[in-house]
Amino acid sequence: MRYLSIFLILFFLGCAANEEMDFSSNSLEEVSTSNSNNTSSNNSTSSSSNSVINQNFECGNGYYYLSRPEPSEIDDTHEYFQYGWQSSPPVCVNVYQSELLEGRDEKLKISMDWLKSNLQNIIPINVFYIDQFNASEESKLQHDTDFCNLVGEPSELDDCIAGNLDSWGDRSYGGGVYGRYLHKGADLMIYDDAFVQDEGEDSGLIYLAHEYFHTFQTGHMFYFEEKQKFGIRIEDEENGVSLPFLPIWIGEGGADFASITLMAKQNLDFNHYDQAVRFLNQAREAMRGSNPSFSLENFESENTRINDEYYAYGGGFMAHVYLWHLNQDNFKKLMIDFYSVFAEKYKLNPTDGWKDAFEETFGLSLEDFYSDFDAFMRQDKESQVAIIKSTEEWINSSWN
Ligand SMILES: [Zn+2]
Repeated sequence: MRYLSIFLILFFLGCAANEEMDFSSNSLEEVSTSNSNNTSSNNSTSSSSNSVINQNFECGNGYYYLSRPEPSEIDDTHEYFQYGWQSSPPVCVNVYQSELLEGRDEKLKISMDWLKSNLQNIIPINVFYIDQFNASEESKLQHDTDFCNLVGEPSELDDCIAGNLDSWGDRSYGGGVYGRYLHKGADLMIYDDAFVQDEGEDSGLIYLAHEYFHTFQTGHMFYFEEKQKFGIRIEDEENGVSLPFLPIWIGEGGADFASITLMAKQNLDFNHYDQAVRFLNQAREAMRGSNPSFSLENFESENTRINDEYYAYGGGFMAHVYLWHLNQDNFKKLMIDFYSVFAEKYKLNPTDGWKDAFEETFGLSLEDFYSDFDAFMRQDKESQVAIIKSTEEWINSSWN
């Protein structure tokens, strides 16, 4: 299984974000070309007028906004936006050279529809799907052109495309949104290699679920529930900070956690319980030989690989499992509530807003949580496996 290599490595396209963090990868491209006849690249080039709304938005025919609209409200820290798509954010699946995909693109679209209706998102999603090994040069160029048009400005297009040329064949899946292109929705990059593994095609959908959850997480990090508006912090914008800080173990562990339950609830050929145990094994392997000071806390901004495994993923996943085991109500809190309060907490406390969101949501001090969880991860495997919920519980747990 190629989990690790795929899940984690985040590489960024030159044009997209040279920032440090990112579980939210922005790795690919977007725009819509439902069949490989791309009609889309026209959009962002023309029309220099600001914030023109494409009234006739449809997938394959351009972006909703050609550029960022004017804020509808400003206060001392944030600019707030109300986007035309908020009542019904679209999902566009852009497929390149579908003849190479042997119907897997249809499978992906069905799963994407399921994800969209069962874990409702608040922003548009621009999915890009291509076979990164066998696609033609022309298709790859179209893919990157579309993606670069999504995440960047027209003036950056050539650099963006050139900066990504060498990474074909070595690209990771990615999903998420940054403030600068929030008005156009998130990107979600997935490659056909996800679906051609020993475990079978259905198993590859876990990557789609994982990246989908990143779009959910990052969209909510900008959303103010009470105002029903998206807010971008003015100082972040000035400093080139693309996304509020979220610890990697929450970003990645949360996406792995969500991916299990999102997979479990679809009718797929996939064993979610076994996958959960595999995540535990990865965490245990990363801890092997560690000294007593080893802590989840060290994986807030570090995504190091130890003994070939990434603790931010496996350990982050187990941290979610552990919280769920403490209290049944925590399931919904892990899936939804933490993200719902995030933007408001971040506004009040840009340095540590996520900690406030964590402590308020779970009613635990973060310090106590780290110390209890670290001790738990030092126990034997049997007691750790014992807190992983059964297949039925993964299927039946609800975030509504
Ligand atoms: Zn991820």
